[in-house]
Amino acid sequence: MLPLDVPTMLLMTAAASATMALSMAAVRPERREGMGLWALALVLHTITYLLFTLRGAVPAWASVVLANTLLAGTFALALAAVRQFQGHGLPWRRMLVPVLAMALLFAWFQDDYRACVIVAGVVPPLQVALVLWALWRPKPPAQMRGAVLLTAGLGLQAVLLAVRGALAALHSIPTQGLLRTDGVQSLTFMAAFVVVILASLGFILMAKDRADANNHYFATRDALTGLFNRRALLLAARRDVAVAARSHEPYALMMVDIDHFKAVNDGHGHQVGDQILCHVAGLLSARLRAQDMVGRYGGEEFLVLLPNTAQQAAAELAETLRSAVAQCPCAREGCAITATVSIGVCGGQLHGTEDWERLLRCADQALYAAKAAGRNRVVSGRFVPEAAQPLATPVI
Ligand code: GH3
Ligand code: MG
Ligand code: MG
Repeated sequence: MLPLDVPTMLLMTAAASATMALSMAAVRPERREGMGLWALALVLHTITYLLFTLRGAVPAWASVVLANTLLAGTFALALAAVRQFQGHGLPWRRMLVPVLAMALLFAWFQDDYRACVIVAGVVPPLQVALVLWALWRPKPPAQMRGAVLLTAGLGLQAVLLAVRGALAALHSIPTQGLLRTDGVQSLTFMAAFVVVILASLGFILMAKDRADANNHYFATRDALTGLFNRRALLLAARRDVAVAARSHEPYALMMVDIDHFKAVNDGHGHQVGDQILCHVAGLLSARLRAQDMVGRYGGEEFLVLLPNTAQQAAAELAETLRSAVAQCPCAREGCAITATVSIGVCGGQLHGTEDWERLLRCADQALYAAKAAGRNRVVSGRFVPEAAQPLATPVI
């Protein structure tokens, strides 16, 4: 038998819950991502375990009926926290019915400890199943690490409670009271302690992973169009160019600029200008291949990175984009304008990362030529890589 004193373990679980609740309440619960509800669940858990510890010292309605109702309330709030984290409304019926069932069943069986163990082996595991169902259905959560930790914690709790309930139903374990120290009791309450930490850390990790993903998104995206921003484009280009130079694959890029955009702003207002920017951004990104990357390089200028693409193929793709923009009027609210774009294309075989600057300059000059030639057109530049430059002094 494990030499673990059950009352001490109950008290430690209460202390762990209270500590976790305090820590989580400090993590901006106003963001309504379930953190506040989870902290509240831990407060109920703390009171539950304090009442368990006081078994015999306080009336049975408090230590048996109220404590177990609060335990059901803990899992109901865990369900609410997961739903709120996912941005859904609270499932009141699935939260309240088990709490009510626990209250009634424990009021009925309060003098029969064996029956109480059986009820605790059925209702809370079902509640845990509801939480895990909400977490993993209809599709697995994006915050996988935290979800796995949370599932491991709550799953462990549910399995141990169910096994303890089943053993009690089969008369396979002594059922002489909550505070009696025996192997199954010790294991169950040791698990309760571990579960508080495991499941709460899982929930915190989920919130952290989501915050990291959001930060990454906003650090790499343009706020208006949702396309990649200049920083993300340049980072990707640096990586692409190194790969292209090493693998001897051709690499191309396009510089796309909206024609007479200043006139749109001046004639229709800045808001319509913004709508046109989003409209063109949508047309460009919808027509590119999965390997390509488009981003907003500057005001009304977009850069398209085309890995493993020769100049000719890039020019054909550019022509497709140009004609798509010219043929699709902006159908957004208050903006019935057809924009046109000029595109400078440049591509070829790269020999080193320093060729990136040349490629960019080449596409920029091609764009300039397209503007000079009357706009709404594609011009291909001639890319001269570093290695192909004539040497200043001939080698003999
Ligand atoms: P061109 O055909 O030669 O490209 O002429 P253009 O008018 O398009 O180019 P110009 O560089 O003269 O003007 C670009 C304009 O884009 C000026 C600037 O106010 C506008 N602009 C830049 N960023 C934004 C934005 O985020 N929203 C809006 N509405 N306008 C922007
Ligand atoms: Mg322009
Ligand atoms: Mg411009």
